[in-house]
Amino acid sequence: MGGFVLYYIYYMVYLDYAATVPILPEVSKTMQKAERCFFANASALHTPGHLSKNEIEECRELLAKMINADPNEIIFTSGATESNNTIIRTFEGCQIETSPMEHHSIIEAAKVYRGKKSPKLFSFMLANNETGEFIKIPKRKTGAYYHSDLTQVLGKIPIDVKKLGLDYATFSAHKIGGPIGVGVLYVKDGAPFIPLIIGGMQEGKRRGGTYNTVGIVGFKEALKFVNKNQTWKIYDTRIRELRDVLAKRILKEIPGSSLNTDINRRKSLPNILNASFSAAEGESIQLYLDAEGIIVSTGSACAAGDIKPSHVLMAKTGDAEVAHSSIRFSFGLENTMDDIDKVMEILPGIIKRLQGISTIS
Ligand code: PMP
Repeated sequence: MGGFVLYYIYYMVYLDYAATVPILPEVSKTMQKAERCFFANASALHTPGHLSKNEIEECRELLAKMINADPNEIIFTSGATESNNTIIRTFEGCQIETSPMEHHSIIEAAKVYRGKKSPKLFSFMLANNETGEFIKIPKRKTGAYYHSDLTQVLGKIPIDVKKLGLDYATFSAHKIGGPIGVGVLYVKDGAPFIPLIIGGMQEGKRRGGTYNTVGIVGFKEALKFVNKNQTWKIYDTRIRELRDVLAKRILKEIPGSSLNTDINRRKSLPNILNASFSAAEGESIQLYLDAEGIIVSTGSACAAGDIKPSHVLMAKTGDAEVAHSSIRFSFGLENTMDDIDKVMEILPGIIKRLQGISTIS
């Protein structure tokens, strides 16, 4: 690896944690060990196979305990996208109602599979990945099923799937410092379920494919980190303060700025701030910040390259200009007040320059 890359990564101000979180050092160490110790196929009947399987079961039990579920209600997948797709596909031909703010892995899947039959599936995320704002999960009605994409929520606030009244929930390891490519689908005992990936006997025939043992070991270590440090408390205090200071400084110091995130503590996760800057284009702001080593995103990274304005901001504001001029700052545990100072040294100048050359009046 080039020295420049290490230098760059060390000095950049990373504010794109909602897109992905760097693997935690303890997770990385544990995964390296696991590559040597738990390489065997976890479905095999020999001892190394059992050792691998034990690791997987420990992760399953740990997550189940954290979200108030039973271990047999946890299915490992390749990520939140697969978990979301699986549940929408289970309701193929049925009525599927989603919030307009859902991730593309729900919205696009629902377009393909929704129909008119019963039972009905509701899929409402608890907190949105672009604005961080909470979304109300509809009140339970008998005969309907409820899914929530909790990808952005894990580790940020405590989760209880029973209190939330959920039949299904989605999680992803890489949003808490685990590896990319490991996800979970919670399926309440007795809720309808049709496997998306059909293969061997893995996961009680609910998800085929050789176990990603090393990845799951990494997820387990990241979950342990969340528990040991009670990360939701750090987000609620230190990270919330960073987010709120940035929000207030943006409004005060940058003319034409507005917030797309309600920073009231009951209204949003503590680590996401979405803001718009009138007459400045989001992509340009992002590129100028990038050139200064400040890493943010516009809308969701999954929609990058898509010239349509963010569907989330369009649903929220109905204003294409606001959506086109938006930036998402998302914080992680490594951020400090210094990072906010660096952003506020650079950002006002960038906005001023872009507003100066804008043809939008
Ligand atoms: N749902 C939400 C709310 C997300 O933020 C993301 C990640 N952008 C996903 C699903 C997809 O997650 P994964 O990368 O694990 O497929």
